[in-house]
Amino acid sequence: MKLKDLGEFNFINRINRAIKLSGRVIKGIGDDAAVLRYTKDKYMLFTADMLVEGKHFHKCDKAVLVGKKALSCNISDIAAMGGSPKFAVISVGFPGSLDLKYADELYKGIRKSADSFKVDLVGGDTVGSGKIIINIALIGEVEKENLTLRSGAKENDAIFVTGNIGGSIKLKHLNFTPRLEEARFLVKNFKINSMIDASDGFLADLGHILEESDKGAAILEKAIPVSKNASRFDSAIRDGEDFELIFTLPERQADRLENAWLFKTRLSRIGQICNGREGLSLVRKSGKSEKIKPAGFTHF
Ligand code: ADP
Ligand code: MG
Repeated sequence: MKLKDLGEFNFINRINRAIKLSGRVIKGIGDDAAVLRYTKDKYMLFTADMLVEGKHFHKCDKAVLVGKKALSCNISDIAAMGGSPKFAVISVGFPGSLDLKYADELYKGIRKSADSFKVDLVGGDTVGSGKIIINIALIGEVEKENLTLRSGAKENDAIFVTGNIGGSIKLKHLNFTPRLEEARFLVKNFKINSMIDASDGFLADLGHILEESDKGAAILEKAIPVSKNASRFDSAIRDGEDFELIFTLPERQADRLENAWLFKTRLSRIGQICNGREGLSLVRKSGKSEKIKPAGFTHF
């Protein structure tokens, strides 16, 4: 059997089943970051992401943006847990023939993102490699009361998304701003029941919330904010790498949130959580409702 026959998510589930965890782990595999026991008031968050030349970026992409993305996608995962990023280690695989200028620019991008979001760069590893590979692991922390998992969605919760969905590959996927300020504002001022950052695609990531929470949802085509770079609605909701937040909160807090939202980032209320047996349905602009599979990007 080959990895591609199993699929990325089944492979990760297989790893998960074989792992035994100590009592220090609150949440291991299965959310945007691991949640670990830390202090009386806070949890530690721990996440990693890897970028590979030819897969996530190309040699012709600006190195400074590749570096910025390498850290920003980790910050996005910490934000999706409701927390703040703190310390990162950076491991790189570089061909010996690589221009020093490229490596310098890449680190300039990493530093830019680290400075903006107050992350200390504290170590890493350097190896020779045929292709450029960047792996960053990031530690963050979150006040216990602000921890937000994928698994907390409740029936009748309102579903929101930040920014615009789809078409990110044309522009935004290398040069996006992780929604850290927005996420911190949300968890400090509202009862956010569940949250995820959309990296696999809007539908797939909403699907992760539904699966982990054992819930269904009804979403409205007319309310979903599609990017003008996206070709069609149906592909926009499946495109990966939006790095927007998808979250749910009790319906009675939805109006207050819409009134309190002071960020430039767009905020859209796009549907409602329902019973798990009802699955996921999409209400088309015509008013017709159809069942839809929450599929998106997978690596194999
Ligand atoms: P995200 O898109 O938020 O970065 P992923 O889809 O990459 O999340 O990963 C989902 C979950 O699976 C996370 O909890 C992650 O830590 C875990 N995971 C992914 N790959 C591996 C692996 N090779 N070994 C162990 N855990 C993994
Ligand atoms: Mg994530």
